Amino acid sequence: MFKDQGNDGIDAGGGAVLSAQLSHAQIAQPAHEPSLAERYAAWRRKVSERFAEADLVPDLAEDIGSRRWLRGAGTLLGLSALALAGWPDFAPLEAAPVMRIDDPVRDEFRSQMIMPLALGADSGRHMGATDRVIPLRSAPERPRLDLEATLASGDSFTRMLERAGVGGAEADLISDMVAGAVPLGEIASGTTVDITLGRRPAPGANRPVEALSFRARFDLQLAVERRGGRLALDPRPIKVDTTPLRIRGVVGNSLYRAARAAGAPASSVQQYLRALGAEVDLDSAIASGDEFDLIVEYKRAATGEVEAGKLLYAGLMRGGKPRKQLMRWGSDGRFYEASGVGESRTGLLAPVPGRVTSGYGSRRHPILGYRRMHAGIDFKASYGSPIYAVTDGTVSFAGRHGGHGNYVKLSHGGGLGTGYAHMSRIAVSSGERVRRGQVIGYVGSTGLSTGPHLHYEMYRNGATVNPSSVSFVTRAQLSGRELANFRARLTELQTITPGAALASLTPDPDETQEPVREIDRLEAKRVR
Ligand SMILES: [Zn+2]
Repeated sequence: MFKDQGNDGIDAGGGAVLSAQLSHAQIAQPAHEPSLAERYAAWRRKVSERFAEADLVPDLAEDIGSRRWLRGAGTLLGLSALALAGWPDFAPLEAAPVMRIDDPVRDEFRSQMIMPLALGADSGRHMGATDRVIPLRSAPERPRLDLEATLASGDSFTRMLERAGVGGAEADLISDMVAGAVPLGEIASGTTVDITLGRRPAPGANRPVEALSFRARFDLQLAVERRGGRLALDPRPIKVDTTPLRIRGVVGNSLYRAARAAGAPASSVQQYLRALGAEVDLDSAIASGDEFDLIVEYKRAATGEVEAGKLLYAGLMRGGKPRKQLMRWGSDGRFYEASGVGESRTGLLAPVPGRVTSGYGSRRHPILGYRRMHAGIDFKASYGSPIYAVTDGTVSFAGRHGGHGNYVKLSHGGGLGTGYAHMSRIAVSSGERVRRGQVIGYVGSTGLSTGPHLHYEMYRNGATVNPSSVSFVTRAQLSGRELANFRARLTELQTITPGAALASLTPDPDETQEPVREIDRLEAKRVR
């Protein structure tokens, strides 16, 4: 270091002197004192000679009992002890303690989660208090507090009240009162509750509920009020008109747009097109001069809200005459034509979801060993998988049937039937009506079968046919009393005036609310 400085600093006067002195010392150094590297090399040499002399690992089979042997044995024991001392500990690792989610923690989570406001999110509005929040000892307070609480999805009414600051006992009491009028589970999430809290009886105590009101159901407003120191429930039914909504109009350029413009809800137009599309080809069968006619379930509350439900009727008129009239009927909500013929159902369900392992036709029988007709198709399926009816029908046979083992045969009308063999268990009985997709039994290996599979057969007029060659269309036909009821309902629907349900509901005179403000009262008097 000095040497470098000396060489670089020749221009400085003092530096030059120093440089002269050092270069003198440099010449003298190698002769008297060995350099660091030389000293290290000498030390290494000495140490390695010592190690070579030191007999650290004597052969313990030689000179047993000698001093050299004892020293060797001692070294071995010492090193072994050292190695054993370093043996790792295989005790189980301690896991982090399980988090206990109590109410404050739950509120903290709630305040940090992201949820749509419409579902009652309170993100960022009511932050859960943590330990770092120090409550003020005393602060001036409003005597009354008006606030809104929203019932979130998966929320409970009691917890919502408690979040709004209602005391636990009072929240329970109010929940019980509300539950007496409407089941708490039926209150829609996103329902907003207006709450008025009164003055605290003591510092730190919960504010008592003065009033609370919310829309419990489409046709029910519930209010809880404090009267004479006690809470009382006040159910206020809302008048609801359920006249179905009927929309008629000319198709024009777009049936969808024309129907929407006439006031039909979007979902109803979609249902209309779907119902009609199942019967006719929408692209070719509808002309721009045609008239559409749709009737929808509709609810109107006196407070102005509306709720559109299912499509009840879909009609298409040409030249003032009905071309297509479809009405929803029955518990499964299918559409039927005015003649009572149900909507068509094409195709068959697969009886089991597996692939076909053996087709229809002549083949060598795996058990009997000779060529014979395979009268159905085999589906690969695991033991116990459910077997479904391929379409609606009646059970014509259910039980043991020779080589078929446990066997179910369904008849579907029109001379068609299906058979399901080798079942482990039968789930229907003879004479029973089955619906398309209904479970009729479970895959097994009964009868002449080498392993679990479904042998599926199709019959036409009693003889087996290749199931993959048959595609059939089913149509239900209403008859007798049901047809009469169907026709009566259709006639009833036809009497609805188009657009009647869109007019505003005129409130009953006795339900008209008295104006609250004096100026409105005077105004009302003047108008009268
Ligand atoms: Zn088979």
